[in-house]
Amino acid sequence: MRNKEMLLIPGPTPVVDSIYDALASETRSHTDPRFVAIYRSAIEKTKEMLKTDGEVFVISGSGTLAMEMAVVNTVQAREKMLVISQGYFGDRFSKLAEAYGIEVDCIQSEWGKRVNPEDVEKTLADGSFKAVTITHADTSTGVSANLEALIPIIKKHGALVILDGVCATAAMEEDMSKTYGSPEAKIDIVLTGSQKAIGVPPGLAIVAFNQSALEVRKQIERVPAYYCDIYNWLPIMHDPGKYFATPPVNLIYAYDEGMRLVLEEGMEQRHKRHKALGKAVRGALAIYGMRALAEESDAAWTLSCILYPEGVNDSVFRSALAEKGVIVAGALAHLAGKAFRIGHMGNATEEMLEKAIVLIGETLNEMGLSVDPSEAAARFRELTYVQA
Ligand SMILES: *Cc1c(COP(=O)(O)O)cnc(C)c1O
Repeated sequence: MRNKEMLLIPGPTPVVDSIYDALASETRSHTDPRFVAIYRSAIEKTKEMLKTDGEVFVISGSGTLAMEMAVVNTVQAREKMLVISQGYFGDRFSKLAEAYGIEVDCIQSEWGKRVNPEDVEKTLADGSFKAVTITHADTSTGVSANLEALIPIIKKHGALVILDGVCATAAMEEDMSKTYGSPEAKIDIVLTGSQKAIGVPPGLAIVAFNQSALEVRKQIERVPAYYCDIYNWLPIMHDPGKYFATPPVNLIYAYDEGMRLVLEEGMEQRHKRHKALGKAVRGALAIYGMRALAEESDAAWTLSCILYPEGVNDSVFRSALAEKGVIVAGALAHLAGKAFRIGHMGNATEEMLEKAIVLIGETLNEMGLSVDPSEAAARFRELTYVQA
């Protein structure tokens, strides 16, 4: 890898050389048949990854735009939407929906915990909700959503399932053809960004609508958006040579290469790998007395929020670690200063993460703690070996 640093934040994540090479290809016209073929292939690969029978949209924007596209094309002003929030990015759905005059109800878990499915059941029984949003892996807390429990409940009440996969897609299972208990119990919309578990530089919003979600859009005469209206993009997704708004040509080259790598590894292997890496990172850091905020059974496979042991100063730790070439992120909201977040997704390799574990231990020792980096590295190898 050409990278000089290990970018272990919850996105952007490490980019591999072949993706950089694709990004640096000659910029062509967005209607040049050579580009159009690559755009078409990128869209097809995205469909293949998510196993959707519907439509995917790959456009300029960040994950937040993808969230907005999902909501604005399905829920109208004065209709009700339920947000299942397990942290900061769950709450973002509430603010976004309120901006469009949607009536939002939010079930908020205690940070680090999952929402209780019984609370979801009770709330849904109380009112007619058009859609329910789930954050698959909340990037602020490292908590994953329990799809097996939530989707059947939501579907029983006839609402659409909108899944925020910004920190999960391509790493945690998001199979849109999978049924959760009954034939209609499926994920209706998956939305994501290019820069997290997919491992491509930031700049693309990616959204998939299944047939039920497309049917819901059909019932809406006019959505209160223009760039975000999927009907403006549908002709382009069917024929990427057509024009609506200029696509980010070079980023699409990079994304197509990123998706090629994703499919080459295979979804099952990617799920296994991410699950094992998450477990191994948390297990190894525990040797240093660093505990994850989430319980292991609820933990995301892609990133972890790790509480500092007594006496470790957040900014001193992160800048000392950055000098060794390892970049981790601070924690958000009330956890700021008390925890850090480490990504272990996308193109991050086992070797890279083991090295990072050792450098974290060395940093802690320099700060006056007494920990054993080689013991942590051994634990990391043991956990990846057993799980992989
Ligand atoms: C990062 C993230 C977002 C926001 O994505 P941007 O690309 O920063 O707009 C939304 N949801 C989750 C779960 C995220 O991790």
